[in-house]
Amino acid sequence: MKFTSVMTWLAVLALAFFFTACGRQEEKPATTVEKKPNIVTTVAPITSIVENIAGDKIQLAGIIPEGINSHTFEPIPSDSKLLSSADLIILNGFDLETPTLKLAQANLKTGASIYSLGDKTIKEADYIFDFSFPKEQGHPNPHLWLNPEYAMRYATLVRDELIRLDPKNKAVYEQNAAQFLKKLETLDQAIKEAAQTIPQNNRRLLTYHDSWPYFARRYGFQVIGAVQPSDFADPSPREMVRLIEQIKKAKVPAVFGSEVFPSPVLEQIAREAKSRYIDKLRDDELPGKPGDPQHSYIGMMAENMTIMFEALGGSTEALKKVDPAPVAGAHADYRRKD
Ligand SMILES: [Zn+2]
Repeated sequence: MKFTSVMTWLAVLALAFFFTACGRQEEKPATTVEKKPNIVTTVAPITSIVENIAGDKIQLAGIIPEGINSHTFEPIPSDSKLLSSADLIILNGFDLETPTLKLAQANLKTGASIYSLGDKTIKEADYIFDFSFPKEQGHPNPHLWLNPEYAMRYATLVRDELIRLDPKNKAVYEQNAAQFLKKLETLDQAIKEAAQTIPQNNRRLLTYHDSWPYFARRYGFQVIGAVQPSDFADPSPREMVRLIEQIKKAKVPAVFGSEVFPSPVLEQIAREAKSRYIDKLRDDELPGKPGDPQHSYIGMMAENMTIMFEALGGSTEALKKVDPAPVAGAHADYRRKD
């Protein structure tokens, strides 16, 4: 073989090696960097439910920041970017997030979908209309998730929707959902048990924000009123007098406000009716900081129940067996919008 042909062969071999190496390099990212579905949710309890079931298999962002009024929340322009990158947008529905829903519809990417949980959880006959959500206005009370039975339904709906979107991780979603459902059952049982320790006469709720009717229906409480009218303004003086009389007559030991809606009006009503005013309930704000075990839907419920049941003269012993931490694998890749 002449020197020139040896050189040619060497060149061919070198090229072959180069392309093989390149080929390998190109394959590598495809197998190791797996593209995760992008899921956008609205209120924190729903984000927490999704997080429990999806674990680290998705990219997750919650649109509605905690500690603000979710009922009047208007998304900011940069939220359209987040919504347009979503493969799936999960909402509560029942007109809770109308501005966010509109922005999501306007920015939905091809092949993506919007999924609302509320209307798939209860039948129309079970919708609750009340003082803050009157039937004439046509928006049912949206706070279904404060009834853990409905949170279980949310969890199974989310599980099935994640499997549809990302079938290769079906086993993970099923396993996480099964564990999470077991935890929700424990929560439900603990609430039932603890509620029984409250004197029957005290199982009455007067709240500022009207979040508790679906909860009340499940655990045998009577909602004697919600102070916040449907336009989120303060109640009229006549309505205040009526509520004070009602609390006095029913001898309710405590009335409840929430951290999101500080209410001097309810505080005044409580004072005049000689009842305690407790402003610590939460309907869509999780306790603790992101990453804390109690910063979860279950953590929020356990804390609410502890505050509410203690104030109404019950024992909270049963609630101590509730473990608020998300199921294994959760918390990873959880992007919280600031
Ligand atoms: Zn609310």
